[in-house]
Amino acid sequence: MKRLATICVAAVFTWAGVTGAGYHAEHAHWSYKGKSGPVHWGEIDPRFRLCALGANQSPVDIHRLIEAKLPDPKVYYTGNAQEVVNNGHTIKVSTIGKNEFSIDGIPFDLVQFHFHTPSENTINGQHFPMEAHLVHKSKDGEYLVVAVMFQEGKPNLALSRILADLDPRPGHPKKLKEMFNPGDLFPKKVDYYRYDGSFTTPPCTEGVRWIVLKTPVEASKEQLEQMQKIMGHNNRPTQPLHARVILK
Ligand SMILES: [Zn+2]
Repeated sequence: MKRLATICVAAVFTWAGVTGAGYHAEHAHWSYKGKSGPVHWGEIDPRFRLCALGANQSPVDIHRLIEAKLPDPKVYYTGNAQEVVNNGHTIKVSTIGKNEFSIDGIPFDLVQFHFHTPSENTINGQHFPMEAHLVHKSKDGEYLVVAVMFQEGKPNLALSRILADLDPRPGHPKKLKEMFNPGDLFPKKVDYYRYDGSFTTPPCTEGVRWIVLKTPVEASKEQLEQMQKIMGHNNRPTQPLHARVILK
């Protein structure tokens, strides 16, 4: 009961906050630190309230694993990475052509991919220096995010193409001179963890299928440092699992 009461009070404050003076729906500003940081996202805009109140939020720490015979995903990527932008929250790359990832018998089309430093999801409490999110959408508007972890090692070819053309200033998109297949971001082995979660940025929409690839890929120390320098720390802290389990 005590817990329930706390949640109700938080909800009241959220609504009180957004009806106060100075609230601008079109310019709800969120960030990764201070007064507009992750712990405040739910208070910034009523559309962001799931960030505070949702019970199936991402990222998570990958633990509490259940053994399952997870099927091989059907990955059919024939398109290309096209344009890169620092949008002020992340380095985002748009894609063109047919890039399809099928799971549960549903084809999901790749919309964009982007990066977080350090990783958002953690595995047994451990962060990786970087995580890529490949965001897919089905015809019915459902979302699937495929997460790829990066560890320090050999230079990464896909990253070198992104960094070669990226304008680090926020809001300056640039076409990639040398396009590449988004599947180049994947490790050879696509074994994965699976759970149901949310967007890791406002509005923290739930009902998102998460596939976290078990095998990390490599990037050089310089590449990882460059990405981090441009994006800063753009990782939302891990969220409680509540009733969820993670399949492996
Ligand atoms: Zn992301």
